[in-house]
Amino acid sequence: MRPSILYAMFSPISTLSGVGPRYAKLVENLCGSKIIDLLWHLPVNIIDRRCGVSLSQAQNGQLWTGKVRVIEHVPPKTKKHPYRIVVEDGSEQLILTFFKTYGDSLTKQFPVGGEKIISGKIEIFNGSLQMAHPEYVVDATTPEQMPQVEPVYPLTAGVTNKMMNKLQKQALHCVPKMPEWLDENLLKAQGWSDFNTALCQVHQPQSYADLQPNSSARRRLAYDELLANQLSLAIVRGRLKKQQGRMLQGDGRLKEKLQNMLPFALTNAQKRVIAEIESDLLAPYRMSRLLQGDVGSGKTIVALMTMLNAVECGAQAAIMAPTEILAQQHAETMSELCDEIGVRIALLTGSVKGKARVQLLERLEKGEIDILIGTHALFTENVKFKDLAYIVVDEQHRFGVRQRLNLSEKGQNVDVLVMTATPIPRTLVLTQYGDMEYSKIDELPAGRKPVMTTVMPLTKIHAVVEALQRKLQTGTQAYWVCPLVEESEKIDLSAATERYESLQKIFGNIVGLVHGKMKESEKNAVMEDFKSGKIRLLVSTTVIEVGVNVPAATVMIVEHAERFGLAQLHQLRGRIKRGQEASSCILMYGFPLSEVARARLNIMRQTEDGFLIAEEDLKLRGGGEILGTRQSGFNSFRLADMSQHTDLLLTATKDAALILNQDPNLQSARGEALRTLLYLFERDEMIRTYKAG
Ligand code: ADP
Ligand code: MG
Repeated sequence: MRPSILYAMFSPISTLSGVGPRYAKLVENLCGSKIIDLLWHLPVNIIDRRCGVSLSQAQNGQLWTGKVRVIEHVPPKTKKHPYRIVVEDGSEQLILTFFKTYGDSLTKQFPVGGEKIISGKIEIFNGSLQMAHPEYVVDATTPEQMPQVEPVYPLTAGVTNKMMNKLQKQALHCVPKMPEWLDENLLKAQGWSDFNTALCQVHQPQSYADLQPNSSARRRLAYDELLANQLSLAIVRGRLKKQQGRMLQGDGRLKEKLQNMLPFALTNAQKRVIAEIESDLLAPYRMSRLLQGDVGSGKTIVALMTMLNAVECGAQAAIMAPTEILAQQHAETMSELCDEIGVRIALLTGSVKGKARVQLLERLEKGEIDILIGTHALFTENVKFKDLAYIVVDEQHRFGVRQRLNLSEKGQNVDVLVMTATPIPRTLVLTQYGDMEYSKIDELPAGRKPVMTTVMPLTKIHAVVEALQRKLQTGTQAYWVCPLVEESEKIDLSAATERYESLQKIFGNIVGLVHGKMKESEKNAVMEDFKSGKIRLLVSTTVIEVGVNVPAATVMIVEHAERFGLAQLHQLRGRIKRGQEASSCILMYGFPLSEVARARLNIMRQTEDGFLIAEEDLKLRGGGEILGTRQSGFNSFRLADMSQHTDLLLTATKDAALILNQDPNLQSARGEALRTLLYLFERDEMIRTYKAG
């Protein structure tokens, strides 16, 4: 249950005064639906109304603030003309101009002889100073009403900065005095103030320095957020660790057979990670390990080798892929090898139906299947294993944190290996998985040829099509990836369909189309044709992004590459790196090309090292949208910025471990406060998931 101290902050924005339903919607789209979301919406700039100069020194276009005396009113001659009020500050006169404003209200607001403090933009017209519609007018007797430094928030159409400032003031009033959840020594060492002070400070910046991610107040809040994240991960992890695992020590006979059959030697990196995984499988606790390996680094064989441990012990293993195409591909690769060594393997996807499905499920329950390959279908209610000991989850970044948690609840003391082809920088591994054990295949099999990557404008598409024609004539296969249009799947689809049709006109029936809106069976049929070579040019949206393996496809063209994230481009390019053939990738960009997009394309041209690419990606993106994976379940941060706050992340990770060591159930006074922190940053969900399990 959410602590009652947080109720007000978690109320909807519409409870603030002056926020009707329509306005609430606008604000909601901008920052979120709750008051706390508003509070996490931080200023990006300031307007400084502290002004030292007199009117005689004021510059054209400058913001000017100061005390003036009203001299006279000049009503307009016609409706087209503005209403004018002449004022002066002792050094010079200034004409205030008002369009479409009634004289009545102005005579009240600016009585002749009266003194006002005004603020607005100065314009010089024919040598005289003017100010159209002052932004602020306050009485000279109440100078405190003039905002000195006004924070500027990211806005949206219909939400003005003035309104946003009003809302933020109200929102700050909803924040009760929070207990201190940070360690006293840390606070002292960092020179941080308490939470409430820090929150007020970030909303009342006094200088540009206050807006920087490294200002003291922002660092304090970023730390709070990181600590909440690391603590929740550590809690989940601690629970997993406590669970009993079984010791899977095989006799090595199957593994030896497999190794003798492989047409290649394992790389040193593969051997090392297999050993790391096996030491976990052997240990008496439940394994939960992350395996990272770039596209083509040979994760599949690592998965199979380690699954054989379970099979040698007479238990069962399962491998789960995010799509049917991938599950099928695993089944093909693995069954060739498994048939030879007498390991029984089966594929279960949504399209295995009727009698075949019933039979498969029976065999599974009787233990007549050693390794089951599948999609999420593996974990529907009626799928019962005789003795499931080990699960491998492939291409995990598609699943997301939530599903990962659900997954490990499936089998009692089942060891879990999560494999991902997204190279994740160390810092992000920490924020996504906590200090989960992880293994990294940092070496590609020998003999891989580099991919020649070229970057060119879309205007040269004809030349590209010509070059493609020559390539296709030599028997090469190619991918043509269509632009990603985030706002609309429909446009996305029509772009792909149009490209397909125009390429079909040129190349005839060797062109195929695959996209996310097709039925699994249709997709599979197209992929089959591509694998068999019947289709030689495959037009697609990004559905081919993950894991598809067609060694003869060595050319890739990406349209509007500037719309893709770095990680995504890297994944895509990985598709043509499978064989021994040299391959080429053409990244075509449209205009306008932003600085960041240009930098991304440059990185793609310069390196194929996924880890390097991921680091660069992080630098380019900062903390916001991590690796373009918001939709795929990565934790994202409101305040912490991964390009700036790495030191805080490392400290928070250590801090979290220490806290749980001393107070595993968060029962001390600080523990109580920390619970509030978890709720404050909405990291409670994860913990609840685990309590239920
Ligand atoms: P990924 O890590 O992207 O899943 P795969 O496991 O699909 O990569 O492996 C890519 C290709 O490399 C496959 O064709 C596989 O047979 C091959 N492969 C794997 N390990 C080696 C190795 N040590 N030497 C040579 N080829 C290998
Ligand atoms: Mg793979």
